[in-house]
Amino acid sequence: MTALAWMDRAVCARLKGWHQAEPEDQAETCRHCPVQAECVAYGLGVETLAVGNEKGFPIYGGLDRAQRLRVRRKRDRDRLKARLGGQS
Ligand code: SF4
Repeated sequence: MTALAWMDRAVCARLKGWHQAEPEDQAETCRHCPVQAECVAYGLGVETLAVGNEKGFPIYGGLDRAQRLRVRRKRDRDRLKARLGGQS
């Protein structure tokens, strides 16, 4: 993974043990992080489908894997609708 400039301002990077915390606690941290928007966008773009490691999926911007998948599906549907709407 390539470090991005916004990662320097990540709150979680300064919290010892954050990556081992419960997802709800991680998400609470994200709500107060100045780079939440950048992190969500990053999380939607990275591949996180580690087979057999459901509990180990990381939080990005306060969204867990299932939440990110829902956002991606909605985004893809909206893009498809826009594309199809532009053709008719
Ligand atoms: S939004 Fe959450 S996961 Fe993302 S950098 Fe901030 S604290 Fe870390």
